[in-house]
Amino acid sequence: MTVPLSLNTVTVRDRWSLAQCIEGCARHGIPGISPWRDKVAEMGLAQAARAIRDAGLAVTGLCRGGMFPAADAAGRRAAIEDNRRAIEEAHALGARCLVVLGGGLPPGSKDLPGARAMLRDGIAAILPEARAAGVTLALEPLHPMTCADRSVLSTLAQALDLCEEFGEGTAVAVDVYHVWWDPDLARQMRRAGTGPKGGRIAAFHACDWLVPTADLVFDRGMPGDGVIDIPAIRAMAEDAGYAGFTEVELLSRRWWAEDPDDVLRIVKQRHATSC
Ligand code: ZN
Repeated sequence: MTVPLSLNTVTVRDRWSLAQCIEGCARHGIPGISPWRDKVAEMGLAQAARAIRDAGLAVTGLCRGGMFPAADAAGRRAAIEDNRRAIEEAHALGARCLVVLGGGLPPGSKDLPGARAMLRDGIAAILPEARAAGVTLALEPLHPMTCADRSVLSTLAQALDLCEEFGEGTAVAVDVYHVWWDPDLARQMRRAGTGPKGGRIAAFHACDWLVPTADLVFDRGMPGDGVIDIPAIRAMAEDAGYAGFTEVELLSRRWWAEDPDDVLRIVKQRHATSC
């Protein structure tokens, strides 16, 4: 089976607008795209939706929603409102999912269980709108090194617990960068394959873990340059019923400095050899 490739637009975010990313995907024969909301807003939602449709691209996800924990009730309400807008945008774009991140601890807080409860409550609050719009909330666990400032959702097990609790309208986004280290990975991937028909995986993100890693956020590696056995994790996803795109998502100062056309060429090549 040939696995279709999607470009997460953050991969070339410093040099290309969304319009350039859409043209770039079409030019390089990359059939999927996963845009970020700031770039969609910059282009205009209706125009972005039209351009993506005209280019014949599948929208494999919209980045990103979630980030629910906040210091006070007004902050939590604002996050929920923002997620409602994200659901509308995902619907307008025909996105296969809205990627939902956990968010970190509120500033000054040491209450990790409390922040995780805010994440749970946030999902509960937006799920009716997501279901009504037919937008799948793809809960993406992030590596535990980001727990304080980005994601109190840390493991696939934790994400699948939430999916089992909430059911219809929820799924997981498996990003190899965030799950590869987990000794429980194989078991949790099997678990993702139980439940609804087609399993609970809504998106599959690929990049690589470099040794050494110079920055905890902005030093992701091109597939093949690091230590993650991406094909092995992709095989687990397929065994769990996932037949969708592999989305290459690099947050990397090194790659942001390169010519985006070169980056897309290398992404395509590594997708074929190392994913
Ligand atoms: Zn990801």
